[in-house]
Amino acid sequence: MHSSQAQSNQVYKKMSDINNLRNKMDLVTLEMIKLLKTRTDIAKEIGEVKKNIGKGVTDEEREDNLRGKIIQVSKEIGLNETLASKFLNFLLNESIKVQSTNKQTHLSIFLKAKSLEQKGEKIIHMEVGEPDFLPPKIVEKSLSEVFEKGFIKYGQAKGIPMFREALAEFVSKKFDVKITNENILVSPGARFSIFSAISTLLNPGDEMIVIEPAWPAYKDCALNAGIKVRTINTTLEGKWEPSIEQMKNMINSNTKMIVLNYPNNPTGKILPEKLQDSIIELAKEKQLYVLSDEIYSQYAKTNWKSILSYNYEKSIVTQSFSKSHAMTGFRIGYGIASKHIIEKMAKLEALCLTNVSEPIQYVAMKALQADTTNNSKIVQKRLDMLSEKAKELGLEFIIPDGAMYIFAKINQEGFNGVEFANSALEKGLAVAPGEGFGNYTNFIRISACQDEKALMEGMHILGNIMRDN
Ligand code: PMP
Repeated sequence: MHSSQAQSNQVYKKMSDINNLRNKMDLVTLEMIKLLKTRTDIAKEIGEVKKNIGKGVTDEEREDNLRGKIIQVSKEIGLNETLASKFLNFLLNESIKVQSTNKQTHLSIFLKAKSLEQKGEKIIHMEVGEPDFLPPKIVEKSLSEVFEKGFIKYGQAKGIPMFREALAEFVSKKFDVKITNENILVSPGARFSIFSAISTLLNPGDEMIVIEPAWPAYKDCALNAGIKVRTINTTLEGKWEPSIEQMKNMINSNTKMIVLNYPNNPTGKILPEKLQDSIIELAKEKQLYVLSDEIYSQYAKTNWKSILSYNYEKSIVTQSFSKSHAMTGFRIGYGIASKHIIEKMAKLEALCLTNVSEPIQYVAMKALQADTTNNSKIVQKRLDMLSEKAKELGLEFIIPDGAMYIFAKINQEGFNGVEFANSALEKGLAVAPGEGFGNYTNFIRISACQDEKALMEGMHILGNIMRDN
């Protein structure tokens, strides 16, 4: 046989080997798809049962048990544990998606309240996290300057250079840190900075730790990006403080980020400094990103330390004009992180938005000159008043260290926050059910975003409903 003939025979054999292997792989994949269908059906069934008994979708303990078994099996069969856990995370997230019920949050109550108002009902809004006062005066004036100043065209994705300079200076002074414009990304609200940090820094199958109760968007952003959320449930009895031990046990090779939000929505908690220090120490040791949502820093009543002060290169701090400057509708906020992280986040922002509206950036830059200390005084006074009233009504809660809310437990047999929030609407009061912030069925969130008279009236209605129940 000619050597070229032998060579082509060999190639032919190799091709046929590849085809055999490919056929085998296809069969395995098809088997996996069938198993996925069986698993999804079971997940749906579990979801129905959970809905009937009012149980939350995620069960950390059970999931962790399964995770342990998978790691054990991976060791036995010689499969990479990180890969196996990533695959498990994909399956767990799919189960969450098929089980997700239409959870009622502060937003759904807000929308119901709005439609009642359209029908002529009067509703006191103690469900929203939106200051009732106006933005600083300078905002109104600077809106009219936009044309003459020429802020009417496309701009850089990261934000107007002059605005980023101003923000860097503002942040450096306020938190006594060294921040430059390279560390700033202007975004439409803090929400987009949070979304872009989670979506660009983590990969599908990675894990992110969220301390609950929490603003629901962290979890939703993660689920949207195929990231598995590991939940630490804190309790009122434990003063809403997470356990470092629990956090340590939760961290594995897939854990990439921890989310912090202090002063906290919904509890108003600020962590004791030592506890916060040890969380950052742990994050540094494990090289985790720390996403710190500091949107309520303006409303810190007691001592509070920005995560910026740790000078940790893997931290991302998010800030906004929504709460501090009462500029919710302007949709303007920013992220603060290392140049490298900002570059990554900016790429997504360029892709999604091109840039934040230039007129709004200009106005926000001007708003930096305003003195907003009175806003915090107003909210603190209201929170003090609400706390007093809530105590009289026998609600259980911790006095908020900051933010704009009271997260209260209603100690009544079979109390259900969602049912309560819906029946309160009929009596002219909107409150947020605890369920929107995690597994907190017997809690409600009351916000201090109305004037004192309206808040007193709201608390009076609340007291009446409690008595009637
Ligand atoms: N983080 C927290 C904790 C919030 O409560 C909110 C708004 N309710 C946001 C972020 C989003 O704020 P922004 O309007 O800046 O997008």
